[in-house]
Amino acid sequence: MYNRVYNFSAGPGVLPVPVLERARDEMLNFEGSGMSVMEMSHRSAVFEGILARAENGMRRVMNIPDEYAVLFLQGGASLQFSMVPMNLYQPGKPVDVIHTGSWTKKAIVELGKVAEYRLAASTESEKFRRVPRLDEIDLNPNASYVHLASNNTIAGTEFHGFPDTGDVPLVADMSSDILSKPIDVSKFGLIFAGAQKNIGPAGVTVVIIRKDLAERAGDSLPTMLDYRTHIGKNSMFNTPPTWGIYIIALVMEWLESTGGLVAMEKRNKEKAALLYGAIDATGFYSCPNERESRSLMNVVFRVRDGDAALEEKFVAEATAAGLMNLKGHRSVGGLRASIYNAQPLDGVQALVDFMAAFEKKYG
Ligand SMILES: *Cc1c(COP(=O)(O)O)cnc(C)c1O
Repeated sequence: MYNRVYNFSAGPGVLPVPVLERARDEMLNFEGSGMSVMEMSHRSAVFEGILARAENGMRRVMNIPDEYAVLFLQGGASLQFSMVPMNLYQPGKPVDVIHTGSWTKKAIVELGKVAEYRLAASTESEKFRRVPRLDEIDLNPNASYVHLASNNTIAGTEFHGFPDTGDVPLVADMSSDILSKPIDVSKFGLIFAGAQKNIGPAGVTVVIIRKDLAERAGDSLPTMLDYRTHIGKNSMFNTPPTWGIYIIALVMEWLESTGGLVAMEKRNKEKAALLYGAIDATGFYSCPNERESRSLMNVVFRVRDGDAALEEKFVAEATAAGLMNLKGHRSVGGLRASIYNAQPLDGVQALVDFMAAFEKKYG
């Protein structure tokens, strides 16, 4: 009806059509206000209602306990690489990092500027083709906190269980798998995620923080970089990313109407099984990653063990067939299909059908 393509972009990624339709319907006159959400004061009662819908929606969908704040910030997940240590690092207590790919590498660079850290585990020597097993992670009980990326968007690996860090807060960059399955938020000290993969549009970053941890910060932090500022003002210290927050409210309502995270996980597993099944079916396609570590969100694969010319053909022919953004990240090459929450099973089926036809032609 809309001539939409199947969009496998790693981010910003596909959004649910019902959310886009609702935003369209409400675009020029939001609930009788006579204006769009983009045009209204963030201090208006109407917008305060939208903010509450987004926050309460996240709380219901993720079952977030009351002792956690849900913040809608700016600066992307990337700013959290700095903000987390600026607020949570305690001098003399190095941060433990579980290093699993490009995004933990970027976090490490920022950590190095403001904190001490050590690697509690790293799979760099194996080219990040897996995440560490829980028994390989060497945790320091005296760490300020533990940092990990729950899903490695570029490498295509994902933690399918989390280490027990005891009294040491666990901080997770969940940018690319938040809301893809139920998780126990109480096991984490802080969760952050740029919205543009599984939550909403670019420009808003969700931070879920156990409120007592915000009290670790000294008094010298810039106001905007201090979590207490945003907790105290309920993300309204300054103008928040109002449009992004509105779309998040709609995405949460869509998630609830489709059965919440239990149903979402089931669909995500189904989609991933279909795609990995096609990759594993013959020797023509291959996934470089260890089976136990494979991501359900970002499926990385190669054609004929990394035949770059054939992979280029794959991308070109897929694009012509309306299957978009399948080129792997420039740092790893190959192909990558991001199959976030809003990617319909039909999209994955279309990709699998295309793969079979492509193999028939060139295999
Ligand atoms: C995309 C991504 C980021 C960076 O997000 P920005 O919002 O662009 O800063 C960080 N971590 C992970 C795991 C990501 O997938």
